[in-house]
Amino acid sequence: MEEELANLNLLDDKEEAFQGDITVVERNYQFCLVGRCLTDSVVHFSSLHNTMADLWHPIGGICITDLRDKRYLFQFFNDVDVQRVATGTPWFFNNHLLILQRIQNGENPLDLALNFMEFWVQIHELPSSLMNETMANQFGDCLGKFLDFDNSNPVSGNQKYMRIRVRLDVTGPLKRKKKIQIGKGMAVYARFKYEKLSLFCFICGRLGHGESYCPFCLKIEPSKIIFGWDLSLRAAPRRRNTVVSRWLREADGSQCCGENMESFNQGSNFNKMRDSGRQSGENIGNQLSNPNLIPLGSNHQYCLNGQSNWRN
Ligand SMILES: [Zn+2]
Repeated sequence: MEEELANLNLLDDKEEAFQGDITVVERNYQFCLVGRCLTDSVVHFSSLHNTMADLWHPIGGICITDLRDKRYLFQFFNDVDVQRVATGTPWFFNNHLLILQRIQNGENPLDLALNFMEFWVQIHELPSSLMNETMANQFGDCLGKFLDFDNSNPVSGNQKYMRIRVRLDVTGPLKRKKKIQIGKGMAVYARFKYEKLSLFCFICGRLGHGESYCPFCLKIEPSKIIFGWDLSLRAAPRRRNTVVSRWLREADGSQCCGENMESFNQGSNFNKMRDSGRQSGENIGNQLSNPNLIPLGSNHQYCLNGQSNWRN
C-alpha cells in the first residue's frame, strides 16, 4: 500500500503542470473600471446596476458585478465606452459619489483604496491677471493633484473664473478658499466651486452623507454646531457659448440672436481686453475694486510679479 502511494506521488510530480495564462486575466480588466459608492446609506445593487447602465448606455453594453462592501466591477467591451465614462467623472448614484478607477496590470480590484476622484473645479474671485496655467498648477496641487487647465473657458461676463481638472482625496473635507498674497501689500481669497458636486455635509464638508448623519452631531451639542460649508461650493451648470445659426429665425421671422450670441460676442471682446491688459498692466485698477482684496499693513503698493505667496 505504501509503495502504491509513493508511486502515485512520483507520477504526480512528473505530470506537467497546467500553464496559467496571466495575460488572460489582465485582458479582462483592460476595459474595466472598479468603483466604490461613497455613502453611509444602504446601496441596492439591482437599482445601481440598472441606473448606471441606463445613464452610461455604452455602445458595446456593460457587465456590472457586485464585489461587496459597496464596491463594483464595471466591465465595458471597448475602449470608447470605458474612456467616455472615465473622463466624464464625477458620476453619482442616488446623489452619492461613485468613485471610479481603472485597473492597472497586476492590480486586484478588491485591494484598491478608491479614495480619489477627478473633478473640474472653478477658481472664482481671482484677479484676471492671475488666471493662468502657472497659477492653475498651484491651485490644483493645493486642492489635490493638478491634472489639466481649461484654456477654452472664457474669463468674461458672468464667467469670471478659471477651470482646472483636479484629482481630489474625497475622504477629506472639501476646500472652500485659498488666501493668496499679492506683492507685499495685498491679499485675495480665491474661492472654489466644484462642478457636478452632489451630496456633501454642511458641518464637516465631506462627501458621502448629509448633515443629519454627520458623526460630529454625536460629539457636539446641537446649539454649538457650526455649518461651515454651504451650497456656494456647488458650481452652477455651465452654459455653452455656441454661435446661433444664421438660418434660425424667431416666430415672427426675425433673426435669432439670443443670449448665446451675446455671450459669445462678450467673450471675444473680453479676450482682446484681457490680452492687452496682461501685456500692459492696465487692469490693475479693476483688480483694486475687487471686494475680496485685503490690504496688508500700511503699504498698499500693488505689485504683480507672478510670484504670489501662498498662505493657508
Ligand atoms: Zn459631516
